[in-house]
Parts: sequence; structure tokens; C-alpha cells
Amino acid sequence: MANNAMARVVIVGGAIMGSFAAWFLRREGFAGDITVVEKDPTYQRCSTTLSAASIRTQFGTPVNIQMSLYGVDFLRGIKQTFGPTADIGYVERGYLILGGPDTVTARRAAVEMQRAGGADIVALTPDQIAARFPYLSVEDVGIGTFGETGEGWFDAWSLMSLVRGAAKDLGVRYVSAEVAAFDLAGGKVQAVRLAGGDSLPCDWCVMAAGAASGALTSALGQPLPVTPRKRTVFSFRAPLKAPGFPMLFDTSGIWTRPEGEGFIGGIQPPADQDPDATGDFEPHHHLMEDVFWHALAARVPAMEHLRLERSWAGHYEINELDHNGIVGPHDEIANLVFLTGFSGHGVMHAPAAGRGVAEFIVQGRFTSLDLSPLGYHRIRSGTPMPESIVY
Ligand SMILES: Cc1cc2nc3c(=O)[nH]c(=O)nc-3n(C[C@H](O)[C@H](O)[C@H](O)COP(=O)(O)OP(=O)(O)OC[C@H]3O[C@@H](n4cnc5c(N)ncnc54)[C@H](O)[C@@H]3O)c2cc1C
Repeated sequence: MANNAMARVVIVGGAIMGSFAAWFLRREGFAGDITVVEKDPTYQRCSTTLSAASIRTQFGTPVNIQMSLYGVDFLRGIKQTFGPTADIGYVERGYLILGGPDTVTARRAAVEMQRAGGADIVALTPDQIAARFPYLSVEDVGIGTFGETGEGWFDAWSLMSLVRGAAKDLGVRYVSAEVAAFDLAGGKVQAVRLAGGDSLPCDWCVMAAGAASGALTSALGQPLPVTPRKRTVFSFRAPLKAPGFPMLFDTSGIWTRPEGEGFIGGIQPPADQDPDATGDFEPHHHLMEDVFWHALAARVPAMEHLRLERSWAGHYEINELDHNGIVGPHDEIANLVFLTGFSGHGVMHAPAAGRGVAEFIVQGRFTSLDLSPLGYHRIRSGTPMPESIVY
């Protein structure tokens, strides 16, 4: 345990994960030095600021549901935590996840599991979907699952800025530099080396470098199957006035939700057209014309006449083993702690994951929520944690 004024934590990556870890370390009473190393202080290309910033409790594994429930509580309490002017634009509104007739049994079982875990999810028949969301075409739909409460969206930049600012106020130091290498000796990371040649000695090293975490960990000679995969977001207007429009996940794979006066949406590229995207931020423009628009018009006929306003691409930090976060210590390098690999659900899980890492460093174990199912052991043994609801 390193909970004393002499201990030094270096966090690699200062976006949402790194900032939550830093802030929670102070909240947990960590009195030593905390240095966050961030190579891009503008945060233009980090996943956090390019994300759709939505939160769901509809997961297939208990740990992910519990992390989301904590995340929702955190978002609801943002003003109590950061003061009355704190504003992250949180809209609490459900995901509506549609499934075909062949999915009904499995989806109903998932809803039972989610409800048992405390999530406020209901299963809707096609008639019930049509009654609540009359602008949707439901002919081919067998089931829709919907979050009555505890799901929604917010502004990720604002949340990150609040946490980062609060961490700085508590004496966390942010350094603008690129981590280039690590000094490893005696089964520990002794220091983090910066591209400019400086070196930061550490007692703990937290890997929160998002999509770059796999490449950085390989510099330590250790496997971490986290790679950048490009995901495009389309921002568009559509002639549909529909108060209460949900975060819609369609059977076709497209998703869309309201944003400001319009909507945002997207679809993953086919698996065989989803390579390592290191350095590539060019949106998948063709997916709008080839896939998204047709699927959207089929599900929401009033959206056939959409007007595309802009699009952007960011990187999912895909954990190729099981598309779930990796949280906790390395098995051989005892002071290397992972906080990465969330594969498209890291913004919503950052409060719970950051808190968990802080608890681990200060108290030697996860005390609020047991995050051990997300441990590095499954990377080492090649044993995925099965998660059935992945986007
Ligand atoms: C299009 C899209 C939509 C998404 N939608 C959602 C959603 O709706 N809900 C949700 O919960 N999640 C969503 N995500 C996923 C979410 O954005 C990520 O899981 C989350 O932002 C990961 O946070 P992070 O801090 O680990 O990574 P990042 O935000 O990428 O931050 C990592 C930081 O590390 C820095 N860094 C990297 N290498 C180095 C180095 N060598 N030295 C120093 N610094 C370094 C980077 O500059 C960066 O700032 C989405 C992602 C994308 C791309």
C-alpha cells in the first residue's frame, strides 16, 4: 500500500479515465504526488471528446450494470459534487434496443437479470413499442427493451473538464508530454520516460492511455490486446418532432439519438473493414449513403429526408479479447495498474472505474464495487468475460 505522502503515482493519459482516477485518489485520501501525463492538452482526438457520451444499464454482465448504475448516480449528483454551476447537460432518457422475433427469449432473460441488478429496464412487445414510439416501424421487430430511468446522455467534454479541474484544485499535476517508454526493474515500473528525455519516478503507474494503451504496454514487453478502431458519428437534421425520442439501437445495427435541435447516429463498419486505425480519423463517409440512411428510413420513415450536417470519427479502444474494460493490477508488474480497454462504454464507466483504481491503490483492494471480473488475469489466460450486449 502506498498511502503516504512520499508515494508517487504517474497516470498515463489525462482524459476521462485518467482524470477520474486522479480525482478519486485524492478523495480516497491519497496524500502523495499525483502526476497525469497527457500528450494532447487540447484533447482533440481523444475518444472521450469524440464520443456519443451516452449511458446505459442494459448490459449482459452484472459488473457492467453496477458500474453504469454508479455512473448514473454520479451524473445525477453532479451539482452536489462540483457545485451549483456544474452543468454536463445530462438528459435522462432510455435506450430502446430493438430485437428480432428470434431474440425474444434471450432478451427477456437479460431484462430479468438487469432488473435483479437494480436497473429499471422493461421489455416491450411490438404493439407496446408502436404505442409509445408511434414514429417507429415495427413490422419485423420481436421485442424492444427500454430504460424507464437510469439511462441517457450528457456532454463528455464538460464532465471531463469538471473532474480534471477538480483534480488540479486538489493538487494533481498535469504535464503536457508524451510517454515514450518505461524503466522496469525488480518487477516494478520504476519510472515513466517522456519523449523529451525527462523521466518521472513512480511507485504506481496507471495505464489510462485509451486506444494507445496496447501499444504502450507492448513497450513493457507485456500483452494488452487494446487497439484503436474507427467509429463514425453522423450529425443530421430530420423533419421529425418527437419529444421523448430515445437512444435507439436498431436491429440493423444503426443507432441514433437526439442531439440539440437534430440527431446524431452511426453504425459500426463490417468486421472485415475495421482495421487498426492508428492515426486515421477520416470518417466512414460511405456508411451514411450505403447503410445508415436506408436502415434509418426503414425504421423511422419520417427520417428519410434527413440533412447531414457534419460527421466525425473517433477511436474505440477495443479490447479484442472481450470488448470489456481492463481494470486493476498487472499480474507480474505489481505497480502497473490498468484502466483501459472499455471498447465503446468508457465514458459511462469512468466514474466507477476511476474510483475502483483509486481504492485499489490506497486500500489494496476494491472496496465499493468488486471490479475483479475486469482484471488482467483474463488477458493472461485468454479467458473472455462474456458480455452479450456489445455495440
Ligand atoms: C464515436 C464514439 C462513440 C462513443 N460513444 C460512447 C458512449 O455513448 N458512451 C460511452 O460510455 N462511451 C462511448 N465511447 C467510448 C468512450 O469514448 C471511451 O471508452 C472513453 O472515452 C475512454 O476514455 P479514456 O480516457 O480511456 O481514453 P481517451 O479519451 O482516448 O484518453 C486517452 C488519453 O491518453 C492520451 N495518451 C495516449 N497516448 C499517450 C502517451 N503516449 N503519452 C501521454 N498521453 C497519451 C491521449 O492523448 C488521450 O487524451 C465512444 C467512443 C467513440 C469513438
